[in-house]
Amino acid sequence: MELSSMLAYQEIDKERSKLESEFMQTECVREYNAAKKTLQSATEQVVSQNAAAGELVKQMQTLIAEYDALEKELKEAESALPEVEDLDGAEFFSRNVQKLLQQLKTLAGEINKVSTKIVELNQAHAATMAAGKNAKQKVASTKEAYMAEREKVMPAVEALKKKLEEAAKSCSEKFIAEYQRLKQAKKTPVLVPLSGYNCGGCFMELSGDALTVLDNSPYVICPNCGRIVYRG
Ligand SMILES: [Zn+2]
Repeated sequence: MELSSMLAYQEIDKERSKLESEFMQTECVREYNAAKKTLQSATEQVVSQNAAAGELVKQMQTLIAEYDALEKELKEAESALPEVEDLDGAEFFSRNVQKLLQQLKTLAGEINKVSTKIVELNQAHAATMAAGKNAKQKVASTKEAYMAEREKVMPAVEALKKKLEEAAKSCSEKFIAEYQRLKQAKKTPVLVPLSGYNCGGCFMELSGDALTVLDNSPYVICPNCGRIVYRG
C-alpha cells in the first residue's frame, strides 16, 4: 500500500473535518443543535416521568385497597366487641382493635408519602413540559437559519466526500477501516511522522524493533497508540 495514497486520504479527511467543525461552530447551528438536544432530553424525561407516574398510581391503588380491607376488618372487630362476654375475650378483641388501628395509621402514613411523591412528580413533569415547549419553539425559530447554513456548506461537503471516496480507491480496505477506527477513538491525525525516535502522535519512544521495521517499510504501527507512524 502506498504511503502517499494514505497521506492523501488523510489530507482530504482533515479538510472535511475542518469544514464540519466550522459548520458546527456557526452560531445558528450551535443554537439549533442545543435546542434539539434540550428537546430530546425533555422528551426522554417525559417518558421516564410517565413510567414513574404509572408506578406510583399502582402503588397508591394497592395501598388504598389494603387500607379499605383493614378498615372493614376494624369495623367488624369493633362491632364484635360488645358481644364478647368474658374478660379475656374482651381484652383480646381490644388488643386486636388497637393493632388494626396501628396498621391503619402506618398505611395512612405510606399513602401520604406516595401522595407527596405524586405531587412532586407532577411539578417536575410540568417543568419538563415547559422546558420542552420552549425548546420546541427554539428549534422551530432557528431551523430556517440552520438549513440555510447547511445549504451553503453542502456543496463543499459533497465535493470532499467524492474526493475522499476517490482517494479511498487507492488505499486498502484494511487501511480505511483502521483509519476510521482510530478516528472514532479520537486518535487523529491517524498518520503521524516519526519525531526523533518517538511516535508523532502519542510521543512514546518506539522500540528498536519498530524502528527496524521503519527501515524496511514506509510505516509502522505505534504499539502504544496504534497510529500509523512514517518517516517524515
Ligand atoms: Zn503512538
